[in-house]
Amino acid sequence: MPFSDLIGHERPKAILKASILHDRVAHAYLFHGEDGIGKKLAAMRFAQAINCDTDYGPGGPDACGICQSCCQIEARTHPDFRLIEPDQELANPQIKIEQVRELEQQIVYRPLVGRRKVCLIDEADRLTQGAANALLKTLEEPTAHSLFLLITSRPSALPATVRSRCQAIRFVPPARTQVEAALITKREITPDDARFLAMATQARIGQALKADVAALRAQQDEFCRLTSQTSLQSIATLLGTAEALHKSDRTPEALEWLAQWVRDLVLVGVGADPDSLLNLERLPDLQQSVRSLQLGNLLDLLTEIETIQRSSGRNLNLQMALENILLRLREAVCVPVESRLP
Ligand SMILES: [Zn+2]
Repeated sequence: MPFSDLIGHERPKAILKASILHDRVAHAYLFHGEDGIGKKLAAMRFAQAINCDTDYGPGGPDACGICQSCCQIEARTHPDFRLIEPDQELANPQIKIEQVRELEQQIVYRPLVGRRKVCLIDEADRLTQGAANALLKTLEEPTAHSLFLLITSRPSALPATVRSRCQAIRFVPPARTQVEAALITKREITPDDARFLAMATQARIGQALKADVAALRAQQDEFCRLTSQTSLQSIATLLGTAEALHKSDRTPEALEWLAQWVRDLVLVGVGADPDSLLNLERLPDLQQSVRSLQLGNLLDLLTEIETIQRSSGRNLNLQMALENILLRLREAVCVPVESRLP
């Protein structure tokens, strides 16, 4: 697959292609930007383009996607391509010093068949300190034939010494419309589903390509029912739901849908373009709820949900937090607006 397969990222693509064309490929790059937007895929395509066996056309350097070199890199069996990543089986996934040492031993040799020995380090922010120090030594004395591609969504978590040895390339999420168009062609889904997926994944193409549309739609239905005025009327129902969600480990999921719902309420409240809503199909419900709401309260509620989301994993009672959020939403939605007037 060529570079054009990558959705968005026109700037990084142009810079990387130009560096190949003018023989100015650096020894190390740091691809940084949000998770799930295509950084790793861009690194794969770059590695392929550099070692591609096919002469490139008028579009400039690219990965043909069909030569032996491109196929082997795709399959990760190319003798001059190495991918290291944290062991996801671990509770705290890390890239260990042994992984970097093994890499060092291979990188000193000249490429066997390709032009460059490419080493892709995914989630580079998960290098242990020892591993980062070992890598730094290699980056400080690069061989002419090596190329390091470091990928991270948290560049500040990498030692400054490592960062300074890499040429930084920033990736920004592609436009939602680009993601939708790609989803319609690649997944053969309806424009409505494509829009919904792009919104629900915040245009993270990696997630959107894998996500189960039917399951997400079912979740949307479930949580929209929960936030309806009828459900919010009964405190017993709310507490029961919070308990059930917590018992099935679904509190984080519930918080995310609640946050999206409140964001939609805020957007409707300020008269934003309905196209910016996740729950576009529920516009009448949103409009109905927003009538009795005060924007300030909604924004406070949103801040609170986001704070809980950030601190989950620490010793927080998630069930209590979810109960609290639901009760606050209930208060905001169910108290008639008249009684709040001064
Ligand atoms: Zn090729």
